[in-house]
Amino acid sequence: MGRVLSKSKLIAYRQCPKRVWLEVHRPELREDSAQAQARFESGYQVGDIAQQLYDPKGKGVLLDPQQAGFESVFARTQELLGSPQPIFEAGFRTDEALALADVMLPVRKGGKLAWKMVEVKSSTSVKDYHLDDAAIQVFIARETGVALAGASVACIDSAWVYPGGGDYAGLLQETDVIGQALDREAEVRTWIADAQRVVASRAEPVVKMGKQCSAPFDCGFSAYCQGLVPATEHPISQLPGRLGNALQELIDAEDLTDLRDVPDALLNAKQLRVKEAALSGKAFFDRKSAALALQPHKLPAYFMDFETIQFAVPVWKGTRPYQQIPFQFSVHRLSRTGKLEHQSFLDLSGEDPSLGFAKTLVAACGDKGPIFAYNAGFEKSRILELATRFPRMATALKALAERVVDLLPVAREHYYHPDQEGSWSIKAVLPSLCPDLDYARLEGVQDGGMAMQAYAEAIAPTTTRERRAEIERQLIAYCALDTLALVRLWSTFSGSNLMIE
Ligand code: SF4
Repeated sequence: MGRVLSKSKLIAYRQCPKRVWLEVHRPELREDSAQAQARFESGYQVGDIAQQLYDPKGKGVLLDPQQAGFESVFARTQELLGSPQPIFEAGFRTDEALALADVMLPVRKGGKLAWKMVEVKSSTSVKDYHLDDAAIQVFIARETGVALAGASVACIDSAWVYPGGGDYAGLLQETDVIGQALDREAEVRTWIADAQRVVASRAEPVVKMGKQCSAPFDCGFSAYCQGLVPATEHPISQLPGRLGNALQELIDAEDLTDLRDVPDALLNAKQLRVKEAALSGKAFFDRKSAALALQPHKLPAYFMDFETIQFAVPVWKGTRPYQQIPFQFSVHRLSRTGKLEHQSFLDLSGEDPSLGFAKTLVAACGDKGPIFAYNAGFEKSRILELATRFPRMATALKALAERVVDLLPVAREHYYHPDQEGSWSIKAVLPSLCPDLDYARLEGVQDGGMAMQAYAEAIAPTTTRERRAEIERQLIAYCALDTLALVRLWSTFSGSNLMIE
């Protein structure tokens, strides 16, 4: 008998055989990204709500293998399957595989007690790997003799609007998957046998890094696997945009990794610019065209940046799952004479910040002059969403959205420094243009993901007043640097010789 592989190990095997081998033999090498951690966190929140939804009377039993131990959970599950109450985290084990089911619901089939299994996901639609997951789950449960009458995957309905008052009915939408799961039993049997063979080997499988490293999830072993790849001076991964078919075929056929080996004829204009800059070490800057692009937008000008939060399970009435809710903005105003003024908004009260945000933003942006942002579609979309939520402010907010001007296309078309390594994110562009504006020098919050985490921490009831004040200082400093950076980008791209004070 081999090891007993958990469902998550089998899913890891489905992503990459090397991954499951590393999960078993070198788990210490795994580094989960902040996004992966956030996904786990959302999963726990959705799981808690699922319990309320599937067991409104509180008659169900929640099993906890961390506390009780797996063996006890498997035994208790068998006992509980004899009586008709919901079971959460029921455990099933065969000689080779084990799985915990999020929800088991009692149903009557032919007068007898049977069960419907529900897997709860924090995604907004059923993905292929959810189907693999369900097929494994159903297979293991049936192997242990469970009378399964149905199986479904419950995902979040992203169009659902939270009515408030803790009423989450409608948040989850089920898709029936029992048919496909039963059809794949032979496949699952093969996966288990193959995964067993992989982990039984003493030798680490040799697998080249590729698309599987980030799909369906970012693999936690990427840093380790990347370290095994010989360093490339000018990696092809710096090429922006989609690679042409001919180039992709050449890369695959000849295992190319360095830009020097890529024929110019197979690159588009932007990719060629990146290649030339990388090889020459020289920046590209078409000053005249950049200035021309900004010429129509006269001072006074505003420079704007938002920070937002998303919740898989909405916490504020009138909001949707995963809605981007702005909780902070920074706006710099630059007058015709070069006077620079700063205004900001940050609500850490834990109440819905949206209305206060909208009102303060409208007041901060005056009624004329361009409002510059970077990758401005994001800010514009948030403003228009606020206009929909608050009809009384719709005219003012739509007028703001009309004034938004994006600095990203100006940078993308007219500037590139080899240190950008193929990216035009503001944090990639800024170091070469404004080396004195260094995000690394900021205390605590240094990027949008950290701002989101800091906000979530600040509004948590357990956070102390001192910590909240510290987070407030960090968030204000971070967001202000973002818009100061926009002022400096504008100044460089427009060729302005205005003395800014
Ligand atoms: S990083 Fe890629 S190659 Fe390495 S284990 Fe993960 S999926 Fe496999």
